[in-house]
Amino acid sequence: MHIRKVLIANRGEIALRVHRACQEMGIQTVAVHSTADNTAMHVRLADESVCIGPPPARDSYLNMAAIISAAAITGADAIHPGYGFLSENASFAEMVEAHGLAFIGPRPEHIRMMGDKIAAKDAMRRLGVPLVPGSMGALESLDEARAVADEIKYPVLIKAAAGGGGRGMKVARSAEELEEAWRVARTEAKAAFGDDSVYMEKYLDRPRHIELQVLADTHGNVVHFGERDCSLQRRHQKLVEEAGSPVLSAEERDKLGANVTRALKELGYRNAGTLEFLWQDGQFAFIEMNTRLQVEHPVTEMVCGVDLVKEQVRIAAGEPLGYGQDEIRFNGHAIECRITAEDPETFAPSPGRVNMYHAPGGLGVRVDSALYSGYVVPPHYDSLVAKLVVHGGTRAEAIARLRRALAEMVVSGIRTTLPLHQQIVADPEFQAGDYTIHWLERFVARMRADG
Ligand code: ADP
Repeated sequence: MHIRKVLIANRGEIALRVHRACQEMGIQTVAVHSTADNTAMHVRLADESVCIGPPPARDSYLNMAAIISAAAITGADAIHPGYGFLSENASFAEMVEAHGLAFIGPRPEHIRMMGDKIAAKDAMRRLGVPLVPGSMGALESLDEARAVADEIKYPVLIKAAAGGGGRGMKVARSAEELEEAWRVARTEAKAAFGDDSVYMEKYLDRPRHIELQVLADTHGNVVHFGERDCSLQRRHQKLVEEAGSPVLSAEERDKLGANVTRALKELGYRNAGTLEFLWQDGQFAFIEMNTRLQVEHPVTEMVCGVDLVKEQVRIAAGEPLGYGQDEIRFNGHAIECRITAEDPETFAPSPGRVNMYHAPGGLGVRVDSALYSGYVVPPHYDSLVAKLVVHGGTRAEAIARLRRALAEMVVSGIRTTLPLHQQIVADPEFQAGDYTIHWLERFVARMRADG
């Protein structure tokens, strides 16, 4: 099919990101927005815009009927969901396709499968992808949880089947802690996702989070664009991401890539996806798959010289990738800092008016942000306000560039996590690449103690 007009069912920096790719491809864009976003950058830049409801996301950015109507009214051919909101909602993808529009993303059945983490792990086990040891499927009772924990040995992690954003996840370090972890994880899962199914995994004590970016076209071609190391997390949320990982060799990357692309080919996967792994002692263990573009995709783009959003659009139009794995090159190193409108010490949200915004520039610097001077960050949505991405010939050059760019960047009027990022990149352990998923929590605690 020929895609001439794309409706972007999102807001903020990712709506701009998709708009930019479409514009360069000669494709018209339609922005949708809530009444809180009347003056937002994505609304200003898009060719057309449609107001779809009041500020709460459930009434606007999650309002499927309003979004499909906006596509019909404006004559859009396709919908790009961005990340978050409806991006991993299989019913929405089905609805989009039922209305004769292209969904710029995976097939609904794969969104559904990977959204259920138990089904996702089952599928990966069948496809021969290595997993974290744990329960086979959902845990039916506390007794079953006890039995699995005795088998895989403490510490263990209870996780929500419908999980996301690190919610519904509880560690039990010993048999005494299990009942409490079981109860809290289920209560949290029920509250956050309306589903209290949980499963169990061995809790790894010092892993890195390493994920693999994949693209698949509708002609059976699957390629990967290497790994991202997203080990720098707070409350299971990523703050800084790198491509490639400071610890992975080219051979390890090739081996994992070959396994994953073979599995996704067998599955008949389509469009962009990311498989997330924990890596410890040289072993990879699958934890989940994200069936969408990810926040941290720019680091991959910088290293591979690819525009992943353009590729997503081409795939949705039915075009073949047109290149093989051999043609994908990994050049230098990239790092992304997620800058949020939060207090850098307490992480309390800090919405409000941005008096002055100045983005850094220069060779190898990219800023994905919907900020401008005078913009009012609304309190209703995710606190991410800018992604600062740098590329360098080596990791050391990327770090030097990042320190320089962070020092140039100004966001005044609201509090942001810029100062925290400055502290992280100045740290010798970060600079040595010597960190696990637990490093940042300890770093933040140390910073607070030092006052
Ligand atoms: P969510 O979908 O809520 O983000 P994930 O399964 O992707 O949940 O896990 C998020 C993060 O939680 C991981 O990046 C890792 O830091 C931590 N984590 C998940 N599973 C384990 C495990 N088995 N052992 C140790 N840490 C884990």
